[in-house]
Formats: sequence, C-alpha cells, structure tokens
Amino acid sequence: MTGLLTIVGLGPGDPRYLTPSASDALALATDIVGYGPYVDRVPERPGLRRHASDNRVELDRARFALDLAAKGARVAVVSGGDPGVFAMAAAVFEAVENGDPKWRGLDIRVEPGITAMLAAAARVGAPLGGDFCAMSLSDNLKPWDVVEARLRAAVAADFAVALYNPISSARPWQLGAAFKIVAETRGPDTPVILARAVGRPDERIRIVPLAEVEASMADMSTLVIIGASTTRLIERPDGETPYVYTPRFYGERP
Ligand code: SAH
Repeated sequence: MTGLLTIVGLGPGDPRYLTPSASDALALATDIVGYGPYVDRVPERPGLRRHASDNRVELDRARFALDLAAKGARVAVVSGGDPGVFAMAAAVFEAVENGDPKWRGLDIRVEPGITAMLAAAARVGAPLGGDFCAMSLSDNLKPWDVVEARLRAAVAADFAVALYNPISSARPWQLGAAFKIVAETRGPDTPVILARAVGRPDERIRIVPLAEVEASMADMSTLVIIGASTTRLIERPDGETPYVYTPRFYGERP
C-alpha cells in the first residue's frame, strides 16, 4: 500500500514545542485529521485538506483516517501533547486491530510530542524528578472503581501523580473525590501543581498545599501534579513563585 498515516504530537500549545520531526510529518501530509482546535494549529497551505471533527468520536476519526490512507493519501492525525498519552495513537491501533485487514499493510508512524505533564513540570522545577505515575481521571472509558483503585495504589506507593482530564462539566465531582483519597495518606503541606493551558496565551500555574486545594481550581485544560511525600518547595524572595522538586534519592541521601 502506498498510503501513509502518521499520528503527530503537536505539543502543549507553544509552536516552539513542536519537534522538527513532527513539523516535517505535517509538511508531508495531504490530509490533516483531528479534533478542531488541533487541526487549527496546523498552518494552511494550498492542497492541504483539513478534516476537523468533534472530540468524542476518536474511533470513528481513526477509521476515517485509515480509510483515507488506504486510498493512497498521506494522512497526519493530530493530537495535543504526545499522541500516545491518552490520545489518538491508541485509537488508531485499536481501529487497526479490529478493522479492515488491509489496514495492517499501511505504514503507520507515531511522532512524539511534549506531553502536558512534562511541560507543566518544567514550569515549576522538577516535581517528577523521582518516581511518578500518570493517570487520566476520566471515567468515560473505564469505571470509577478502577480509577480509585489505581489512585490509592499510586498514593500508597508514594509516587508523585500527574492527573490528566481532571474535571469537566460532565465529570464535576471526580477531582474532589481524588483529592480526598490522596489526603487520607499524604500530608496537608503536600504541594499540588495546577498547570492550566501550558504554552498557550492563557497559561496559569498555581502551587497549592493539599489541605487548601479545591477541584474548582482546575478545568479541563488543567494538568494536576500531586507531589510525593518527598516533594519539596524552595521558597523564593519577594513573593516569587517557589520552585518545586522531588529529589531522586529516597529517605537518606545514599
Ligand atoms: N495527549 C495529551 C493529553 C490528552 S488528555 C498530552 O500528551 O498532553 C487531555 C488532558 O491533557 C487535559 O484534560 C489536560 O489535563 C491535559 N492537557 C493537555 N494540554 C494541556 C496544556 N497545554 N496545559 C495543561 N494541561 C493540558
């Protein structure tokens, strides 16, 4: 088959965070497929067809893109951040596994991008400097019981935890429930980072102690990082935002 399908990570928002390799993949494409706001981030050029869709239909979008590629197009499916992190790459491979057998003959590539968690961490210091884990708090695709069990296990294991999809109008209570679960084990001073729209003009970063954090401080463009028991704040002069880091050693420095 001659078609090509590349799932491209656009990074968190700032165009300078797009890798040169991802940029090359976009330049090669005849068709861009993705959720509207991500498609909008790809500059227009003559001959480039743009297929923007709703965000709720990932599998349909994946099948549509595979069909185009099977007809010989060079398709770029675009995702924010990294396409392999709670995004389109898994949907494409799910569609391939369960779909038209000829799709398996396609050249499918994944172009990594800077995921929200890493962009957010970089803004405040090094909160993910020790062991950490990442979870999507969304219970659209998995039951809340599973989310809760994983969160409890992550806290018990003393990971710093990055929470994607923390809250939305359809999922208003989950983040508050998550903070309560964490507070059963972690101290009230544990730093919580709320990084909203990192790399976009409306970026806002807050660092709030666990005892004071509220779900209303986050929205669907926010990435939340909850520190481990070892995560530390370095206060700075003149009311400047403190640095946050998690040392790489655990317990006494070896
Ligand atoms: N593939 C994306 C994640 C998609 S899930 C990535 O790798 O970043 C969508 C969630 O990602 C949002 O609810 C939010 O928690 C987070 N997110 C995506 N872009 C963000 C940004 N620029 N700033 C903060 N959080 C972001």
